[in-house]
Amino acid sequence: MKAKGVGSVGNPVIIVGAGLSGLYAASLLTERGITCKVLEARDRVGGRVLTAQAAGKEELGQFDLGPTWFWPQYEKTIARLIESLKLETFDQYAAGAMLSERNEHGPPARYVLPEGAAEKSMRIKGGVQSLITAIESALPPGTVELETRATAIRLDETGAITVEASMGDGERKEIPASRVILALPPRIAAQHIEFSPALPADLMRELAETPTWMAGQAKVIAVYERPFWRESGLSGFATSWVGPLQEIHDASPSQGAGALFGFFGMPAEMRRGMGEEQLLELVTDQLTRIFGPAAKNATAILYKDWSSDAETAVKADSIPLREFPAYGKLLAGGAWKKKLIFAGTEMSEQFGGHLEGALQAAEQAVLEIQEEKRT
Ligand SMILES: Cc1cc2nc3c(=O)[nH]c(=O)nc-3n(C[C@H](O)[C@H](O)[C@H](O)COP(=O)(O)OP(=O)(O)OC[C@H]3O[C@@H](n4cnc5c(N)ncnc54)[C@H](O)[C@@H]3O)c2cc1C
Repeated sequence: MKAKGVGSVGNPVIIVGAGLSGLYAASLLTERGITCKVLEARDRVGGRVLTAQAAGKEELGQFDLGPTWFWPQYEKTIARLIESLKLETFDQYAAGAMLSERNEHGPPARYVLPEGAAEKSMRIKGGVQSLITAIESALPPGTVELETRATAIRLDETGAITVEASMGDGERKEIPASRVILALPPRIAAQHIEFSPALPADLMRELAETPTWMAGQAKVIAVYERPFWRESGLSGFATSWVGPLQEIHDASPSQGAGALFGFFGMPAEMRRGMGEEQLLELVTDQLTRIFGPAAKNATAILYKDWSSDAETAVKADSIPLREFPAYGKLLAGGAWKKKLIFAGTEMSEQFGGHLEGALQAAEQAVLEIQEEKRT
């Protein structure tokens, strides 16, 4: 029988989830000389960051089906990281008038917002995936294991931690860990990972009650040969009381093609009930009502419903949020104290939900491991 704690010595820190938070935690641990591995259920890194191209029209550029913006004026971690990785950024296009669709019958109302009225948002050239790629490519080869889904985490009486995972080919694997960072949505951790010994009941409740930011949302992007709305003095920003889109923005790459993206006002269940084909027809009709006949001829329509994505959303995420969730750090107690550390954007009190929150939660998790090592 091993002495208490001996089972963990020399094992890597295991990070579950290769979204922005998990990858950034891996880069910080690596910088500090702490060995780690990142297990990722999907066959790609990035999690809620998803940048896509139009099939067969790759030259039109990259389009973000997950996050698009960051706000360097108050999000200092992401601003510094983007600068240190030498990623190019550009301003969200916002010049010109906005439109507001109040009903289906008349033309939308046109407003010119006073300069500085809207908060300045920034975008990353090549999409937010550029940030993910830059972080991942600086990690030692083999750090990230794709198609490796954590299914159980066990802690034995000697203090040794084992993460059980199922692989893409159906094989199972046991991975010894010195500590585990859970860099995934809290609800996914609570529903998809078995903990032995069980996590305290109040912690399980908190995990299950923390909504995953944007997990109930869907995003659609209509790609055009050029941003034709700009020629009529429109910014591409529109709001609608009619739907199915509630909010529309210019999503054009920094050069060349044009694109408009929209968030839905229609709840997840209604979208799923309608089916993608009919939903996207309604989207085209709405864009045509708002931006005119040129909007009918999109070169490509890209669509991602996050509420149907099992690595992001659980059933409860389909219920529309009525208020901004209370995010913040959750701590594992009992036998799991200091063994299991929660990261992911939902752990950030100030920036929970944002990319900035995912980075700050990773920093916090790594700090805890560093302090623990020091003592
Ligand atoms: C449509 C949309 C628009 C958004 N817009 C913005 C924006 O403009 N600006 C902004 O700042 N933020 C925005 N966000 C939020 C932003 O995307 C998130 O804050 C951020 O990406 C979260 O990163 P994360 O690493 O915490 O979690 P995630 O990206 O969710 O990463 C968790 C990872 O864990 C993996 N995983 C899940 N289960 C397992 C398992 N059992 N084993 C192994 N791996 C597992 C997942 O596959 C995933 O890769 C948006 C999100 C969406 C969906």
